Amino acid sequence: MPLPCIYDQSFADMQSFLQEMKEPAFRAKQIWRNLYCVLEEDPRRMTDLPSAFRDELGRKFDFHPLRLDVQAASADRKTRKFLFLLADGSPVETVLMLYDRRQTGCLSTQSGCGIGCRFCATGQMGFRRSLTAGEITAQALYLARILRAEGKVLTNLVLMGMGEPFLNYDATLASIARLTDPEGFGFGARRITVSTVGILPGIERFTREHSQVNLALSLHAADDDLRDRLVPINRTYPLADLFQACDGYIQQTNRRLSLEWALIDGVNDSPAQARRLAGRIRKSLSKPLVHINLIPLNRTRKFDGAPSQTERIAAFRAVLEEEGLACTVRVPRGVDIAAGCGQLAGMKADLASVDQQ
Ligand code: SAH
Ligand code: SF4
Repeated sequence: MPLPCIYDQSFADMQSFLQEMKEPAFRAKQIWRNLYCVLEEDPRRMTDLPSAFRDELGRKFDFHPLRLDVQAASADRKTRKFLFLLADGSPVETVLMLYDRRQTGCLSTQSGCGIGCRFCATGQMGFRRSLTAGEITAQALYLARILRAEGKVLTNLVLMGMGEPFLNYDATLASIARLTDPEGFGFGARRITVSTVGILPGIERFTREHSQVNLALSLHAADDDLRDRLVPINRTYPLADLFQACDGYIQQTNRRLSLEWALIDGVNDSPAQARRLAGRIRKSLSKPLVHINLIPLNRTRKFDGAPSQTERIAAFRAVLEEEGLACTVRVPRGVDIAAGCGQLAGMKADLASVDQQ
């Protein structure tokens, strides 16, 4: 039997464990502080605990749910990518992106993904399994330790790595609760963004429950025919329903919704698509409280699409701006290290299959 992961234990779990072990209740706070404030990952170094109890903790719990398999850094070292193997060997990717005044961690919520968006390397690799809350949390702690060694802190978190957060809703939100716990890691909810492909029940639940955390919707197309082809789940949750849920989110939370759009040359980058997007926003949302992120496609090996050319991107953006919509063209990060979602794991899987031939 594998040991339970320490980061999967809630504070209440820790308290009952202490009771079972006949240890004083205040140790729960000590352990919590060690894990989430000191960021200690070795129980033997939790020096405010008695030495025998430290050994006991190490025997009862797994403190290392992530085993580093491959790491890569872009030439400028501003994008760093980590491929971990979980206890059962499932691969998971975590990315660290450094900006001038921000350090953003990109976390995975699943190993692989079952949605199968055609352009996405994670989609191309298929679904392995959902992560536990502890495995999601451990990714943020890992990055925070690396940054601390460089005199920096993690300032933003995006749940935009492998997998679909709203198909692993409970673990994802339990992890966010853990990371924002003021008695522990104390991360600001407003500096966290969850990205969904458009799982309608997830958006509705999130709207009811999490008004502080930011939401991003991966849209990529403004008509159902095109979106059905790019993002297969659109057949289950079509655009009209999605936009209705988005309006619910905006009305209820009064927070800006991010719309993600991977620009694919000749596929979804025409001025007509931009106009259709603006039309939908105008028609379906009670106020245009959205920010559109235009991301030139990261090439993946199993999709023959290419990133849009500079003039096409400019024309697309111009239409949105004419319509009064806020948008940003994102510079693709870490293309030289396959830092796009799922790309490193996909590359390794391909190498392995070549090895076996
Ligand atoms: N499953 C969630 C979150 C993970 S994907 C979602 O789909 O939103 C994170 C983001 O990366 C999504 O916006 C997704 O559309 C985008 N993405 C995936 N593959 C990409 C690629 N090859 N180029 C550019 N963006 C990509
Ligand atoms: Fe899954 Fe998101 Fe990739 Fe689509 S884009 S396959 S939902 S990870």
